[in-house]
Amino acid sequence: MRLRNVTGSREVIAESRYVVPEDSLHDMPGKWHALFGNQQPIHLEIGMGKGKFIHTMAMEHPEINYLGIEKYSTVLLRAVQKMEAMELPNLKFLRMDAEEITQVFGPGEVDRIYLNFSDPWPKDRHAKRRLPSKEFLARYDQILAKDGWIEFKTDNRALFDFAVEELQPAGWKAKVVTYDLHADPALMEGNVMTEYEEKFSAMGNPICKYVICR
Ligand code: SAM
Repeated sequence: MRLRNVTGSREVIAESRYVVPEDSLHDMPGKWHALFGNQQPIHLEIGMGKGKFIHTMAMEHPEINYLGIEKYSTVLLRAVQKMEAMELPNLKFLRMDAEEITQVFGPGEVDRIYLNFSDPWPKDRHAKRRLPSKEFLARYDQILAKDGWIEFKTDNRALFDFAVEELQPAGWKAKVVTYDLHADPALMEGNVMTEYEEKFSAMGNPICKYVICR
């Protein structure tokens, strides 16, 4: 998801009070609870796109602090605009590449990670860039609390099969694996649809999901 030619998106992002300043991110490990001014659990969405999922989650769960990570300011701009329409005290955004995540969060500082419809990077030589790859799982392992977990949804079966195969070598266990989330009433309880989930499920694509822990 890359929106091109959004004039001034970098400047808007830099000035937004909803976005954690980029030049302070590497000073943030250990300071996220202080930023929110409370000790509530911290949940991340990595690759949040325009922020529909995380904005809805933050609205529905004021007892959780949410952080949305997005690589491109042109995309992040849409999430910022949503916050301008409805401000939420428990939601902030970070414009960064998730590859740097261990430099931005301290050990065990994050309680849950959501990966929603991550880019598939279909070429084998780009496998390390896939957000559910073992390389990324090793990064998540450093920042996630001992009893924390990761939830991943996608309609891309090849990416999902890859993600499931990465678990054992990386030392993770599946608590839930489904190849048709929307057909499972128990798993659908409390499910918040992402923008891509709405689009692809409307086209008839089954949605795969896993929940994993160590
Ligand atoms: N999660 C949203 C959804 O389900 O509707 C958006 C899905 S979109 C296919 C994937 C998003 O992840 C894009 O906006 C992309 O820029 C972002 N992304 C991909 N790799 C990333 C990375 N390494 N760090 C941060 N964001 C990333």
